[in-house]
Amino acid sequence: MLTINKLSFWEKELYFKDVDFMICGAGIVGYSAALEIRSKFPDAKIVILERGYLPTGASTKNAGFACFGSPSEILDDLSHSTESEITALVARRHEGLQRLLERCGEKDIDYLPLGSFELFTETNRKTYSNCLEKINFLNQLAFKATGIEDCYSPVSVNEFPFAQTVGMLRNKGEGQINTGLMMHKLHQLAVDQSIHVLFGIEIIEWESYEEHVIINSSIGEISCAKLIIATNGLSSNILPEEDVSPARAQVIITRPIQNLPFQGTFHYDAGYYYFRNIGNRVLLGGGRNLDMEGETTDQFENTPSILSALTQLLSTVILPQIPVEIEHQWSGIMGVGKTKQPIVKKISPLVTVGIRMGGMGVALGSLIGKELADLQN
Ligand SMILES: Cc1cc2nc3c(=O)[nH]c(=O)nc-3n(C[C@H](O)[C@H](O)[C@H](O)COP(=O)(O)OP(=O)(O)OC[C@H]3O[C@@H](n4cnc5c(N)ncnc54)[C@H](O)[C@@H]3O)c2cc1C
Repeated sequence: MLTINKLSFWEKELYFKDVDFMICGAGIVGYSAALEIRSKFPDAKIVILERGYLPTGASTKNAGFACFGSPSEILDDLSHSTESEITALVARRHEGLQRLLERCGEKDIDYLPLGSFELFTETNRKTYSNCLEKINFLNQLAFKATGIEDCYSPVSVNEFPFAQTVGMLRNKGEGQINTGLMMHKLHQLAVDQSIHVLFGIEIIEWESYEEHVIINSSIGEISCAKLIIATNGLSSNILPEEDVSPARAQVIITRPIQNLPFQGTFHYDAGYYYFRNIGNRVLLGGGRNLDMEGETTDQFENTPSILSALTQLLSTVILPQIPVEIEHQWSGIMGVGKTKQPIVKKISPLVTVGIRMGGMGVALGSLIGKELADLQN
């Protein structure tokens, strides 16, 4: 690899001299922060450094649910946090989604407002009863957070081809996007606004001085006026003090299925499983709860036990009548901590972090970008 001292005069001048804002991480948060900073500082030199040849965390690997909270997940969250905290979190997710759609354009990222559904099988019958009992409360919370009236409602299980389902709840405010197109669009917008995006450079450590930040990177030492860290679940090396751990999420996708009998996004088992159609294929992810310890890792792998749980769910509940073939599987790394609240703060006068997006960074990411820009002066 060419280190920085072997670069040409032109390369050094263009990408590394007098950088006003250096952003670490080309995920949704990194791109959104860069674009928000561009609106606030039209003449600033903004550079995003990304360690991978592609963004290599969660933003290009997720399921593309444009979601802000399924009924059982919200009730579960309320057992660990106060009602006002959860209302505020749902409101931030919803606002983030609106910002994402506005920035990227619904058409350009294939946004489909099909609503979403939470399904319950015999094993979650009690959870279903609890959600039904509290549906008015959940609707009030969702209305306060999003302005959507009667967000959640029961639907007949007969509307869908799933087996073993004892109940279904609809969320009319959610939808789905094409994850690849979303990231492509964010990249295009960044390039259009003279934001430099440099792939294949990893930040190893950094030191903040009075007037600048010195970064030790995989290509050598780089200086910038301000550093914004958007490394989410991959932050432990450069932000060891912060409460964020890697959380792997595994996904499978089927080959095309003739006459696929459903469309939309579906949550199952308090959000631990999720599936959707992508055209006439099914994408299914989850199962982290089967091996929390093993899945607390930043390694991009798939494991036989989780793949087997996913394929079993597919063949017993989701598409019991139809033989399906798995075409491909992958994994991505999320960032989680003791609470589901993201961390957005200054950790020194010149260094800001926006991390810990949990399982809903598609929703939160654009707003976190705005909040990171608001912290810059
Ligand atoms: C399989 C899966 C399914 C998901 N499904 C959904 C969903 O349907 N809906 C939803 O809302 N959310 C979903 N999520 C979560 C969502 O994708 C994330 O919350 C979101 O993408 C986080 O964005 P980010 O920019 O904070 O982090 P990331 O996308 O992880 O970006 C961080 C970037 O920083 C780079 N980086 C890390 N360390 C360094 C370093 N030292 N130097 C340089 N670069 C570095 C990484 O390579 C990475 O590209 C899912 C996640 C996964 C893994």
